[in-house]
Amino acid sequence: MGWGYSFICKKCQKEYDVYVGAGEDDGRNLLMDIAAGKYGEEMRQGVDTPGIQVSSNLFLYVCDKCHNWETGPDLTLYIHDEDKPPASGIEQLEYSCRGLSVWPGERPLKPFWRKECLCKRCNSPMRMIEEETASISLACPECGEINANYAEILWD
Ligand SMILES: [Zn+2]
Ligand SMILES: [Zn+2]
Repeated sequence: MGWGYSFICKKCQKEYDVYVGAGEDDGRNLLMDIAAGKYGEEMRQGVDTPGIQVSSNLFLYVCDKCHNWETGPDLTLYIHDEDKPPASGIEQLEYSCRGLSVWPGERPLKPFWRKECLCKRCNSPMRMIEEETASISLACPECGEINANYAEILWD
């Protein structure tokens, strides 16, 4: 399941929505893009490591420098952490909310390699919003005014 946020700009009245959360493809599209080299050679090679997983979710990225934002995949390769005891039921649920799967008896996942998402406008590193929050402020795509969302949307 996914979630989203609705906005109405207080300056120019533009309505805009942002949707994040679950995709339907188990991360397969992302894996195909990585294999095709869309995210560079280092990530393309990293994904060949046995046991690698990627998230199937869409995430929100925010640039704290210029307030640009976009949605995109989590460009992190995850691997099972053999130093940790098998994941608990709660941990398994948390992973599935993040678009990752850990089965009973499997070790928790840890980041193995991460590609930084850079702002297309100012080239600064963007911050990935990992948790679902009730309220968020994002710049209007029309005029740049920062608005708080007025509603939360759930979708599947
Ligand atoms: Zn920026
Ligand atoms: Zn506006």
